[in-house]
Amino acid sequence: MEILRLLQQNLPPFAVDIVRLCIWLVLLVILFVPLERVFAQHPQKIFRKGFLTDLCYYFISSLIPAHILVVPMAMIAWGLHYFVPGGLHQWVAGQPLGMRLAASLVVGEFGFYWGHRWMHEIPLLWRFHAIHHSAEQIDWLVNTRAHPVDMVFTRICGFIPLYLVGLARPMGNDKMDMVPLMVILIGTMWGFFIHSNLNWRFGWLEWLISTPAFHHWHHTNDGPALINKNYSAMIPWVDKIFGTLYLPKQWPAKYGIDGPMAPGLAGQLIQPFDYRQ
Ligand SMILES: [Zn+2]
Ligand SMILES: [Zn+2]
Repeated sequence: MEILRLLQQNLPPFAVDIVRLCIWLVLLVILFVPLERVFAQHPQKIFRKGFLTDLCYYFISSLIPAHILVVPMAMIAWGLHYFVPGGLHQWVAGQPLGMRLAASLVVGEFGFYWGHRWMHEIPLLWRFHAIHHSAEQIDWLVNTRAHPVDMVFTRICGFIPLYLVGLARPMGNDKMDMVPLMVILIGTMWGFFIHSNLNWRFGWLEWLISTPAFHHWHHTNDGPALINKNYSAMIPWVDKIFGTLYLPKQWPAKYGIDGPMAPGLAGQLIQPFDYRQ
């Protein structure tokens, strides 16, 4: 902590962000790489195809969407603020932090579910989301493979319901602003877990909270009948409600997409805008 404080005093904010992300990356490697060696569902190398590209996405996904989001989120927050009765805001604000956090994870999931589903169902949005699905070998780091437009869109969709019910508010109330930050942190950490190449199964718990098997089925390329399932980030029963849950005992055999995908980072970032493809 002392080191971080010294860095904050002596480095520009951007450089401090990079150091912070490097520390997180080391912790994630220490956690997931040994586990994926011991409990691998699919035999694959640590430095699999696309590993370096995904490492770049790790930094891009952590830095860029947050900065792009500041202005639109503030506008959306203020816009929606006028539709929420003041009494509701006050009542929600008076609830304990744990309650507001749990409620935010559930309410936000409905927004995220539909944002993610639209990413699959609307061809314009799929152009961006296809990058995340282009991974043919899935591990913890695939969590970061996402076009910034994809991340911004799904994050906005996840946050709109929070603003609508007063669980998140426009700037000015520190106590309220903690909840969205914690939702992002928990969601991101859980995202690494559900992408990981771990053969763990959890019985009936898999219907309550998302697991690697649940999200690996979202990435399957085992045929048209099995794609477009399991859109939820953390709560599988939201998929159950909307009729997209698929959670058999076995695992997918094949991952990825059928369409073309540029091999490198720059090509992938540009591809969604290139209408010749
Ligand atoms: Zn998807
Ligand atoms: Zn995924």
